[in-house]
Amino acid sequence: MTQPQPARAGDPLDQIDTPALILDLDVFDANLQRMAETARRLGVALRPHAKSHKCAEIARRQIAAGAVGVCVQKVSEAEALVAEGIGDILICNELVTARKIEALIRVNRHARVTACVDDPAMVELHARLAAEAGVVLPLMIEVDVGHGRCGIAPGPAFVDLARRIAAAPALTFAGLHAYHGRAQHIRGVAERQATSRGAVARAAEARDLLAAAGIACPVISGAGTGSFEVEGASGVYTEIQPGSYVFMDADYQRNEWAEPPFRQSLFVLAGVMSRSGPGAATVGPGHAVVDAGLKALAFDSGLPEIARRGAVPIDGLAYTGASDEHGTIKVAEGAAIPRLGDLLWLTPGHCDPTVNLYDWIVTVRGDVVSEVWPVTARGCLG
Ligand SMILES: *Cc1c(COP(=O)(O)O)cnc(C)c1O
Repeated sequence: MTQPQPARAGDPLDQIDTPALILDLDVFDANLQRMAETARRLGVALRPHAKSHKCAEIARRQIAAGAVGVCVQKVSEAEALVAEGIGDILICNELVTARKIEALIRVNRHARVTACVDDPAMVELHARLAAEAGVVLPLMIEVDVGHGRCGIAPGPAFVDLARRIAAAPALTFAGLHAYHGRAQHIRGVAERQATSRGAVARAAEARDLLAAAGIACPVISGAGTGSFEVEGASGVYTEIQPGSYVFMDADYQRNEWAEPPFRQSLFVLAGVMSRSGPGAATVGPGHAVVDAGLKALAFDSGLPEIARRGAVPIDGLAYTGASDEHGTIKVAEGAAIPRLGDLLWLTPGHCDPTVNLYDWIVTVRGDVVSEVWPVTARGCLG
């Protein structure tokens, strides 16, 4: 069941039903163009990760700006985006059940959807099911470039895996998926870049093993918002996969950046529903309570920050605690206590799981609601 839209095009901001997910379109457009230009300058393909937004309209805009397609993590996300006309998708994950591989086969009748493998038994399963269905599936090998999660390390077993894919008539070897997730949120620039250079070295090792075995490797894909400059300039990676750059979040804002980072375009608009003290108290110490708590924001990367947007003065305010449907705003001594119905703009700690809590993205230009976009693949976990 989809919830009703929290606003309509043309509404002023104070008409938006809270809590709502808000996208500042001017900042979003600038982030979109900046990444597209950077990929062109670096001479690599751009395949943004759609797990950040799960939104077909944003994927279409990324592709219109020059992206070759998008990434997702789940085959159900691919199904949702293919149904909306997205034609080229990389599932950056392993599918290990017949049910999921059959879904992969179905979407490949309408689009090019590549999945990853890191185990020979799964190459056999994909090959058998694809042959039975009469389709040819593109598969990438996920290389463990230092993250220590999924993927296979470069070595003889890795080469054997590539040989098996290349030899199966119902499979094509589509290249290497080589993403280092932990590198993205290392705070210091030098340490983050050093970790990413380690990923590049492992990807190069894998590439060279394939070359020595005579197996053509068309694509090496990886990198995120925290590291794409390193992989993009490496001469090893042919494709970058940043996702969060379109939105940013409080955690990414805490990274150090060699250049000013992408700007914050994504917010949760929260409404004040209670305030401390006698009705006449206008200044702190005290607190206010907003309607955005654990079910309106992701907290895995910390509390949201209060952004300097809108008419409400925010000096001396801090979001200090959440329960299911409450967010507590602490008001410092002498600071203005927000009034009932006031709107606060919150910067989520982590953009991707926050977006997944909403059916709609309310886009705004200036003080007016522009379009309202469905979160197409919301809740697609399978
Ligand atoms: C999340 C993810 C990305 C994008 O990372 P951001 O930090 O959001 O830019 C890229 N590739 C893979 C495989 C991912 O899981």
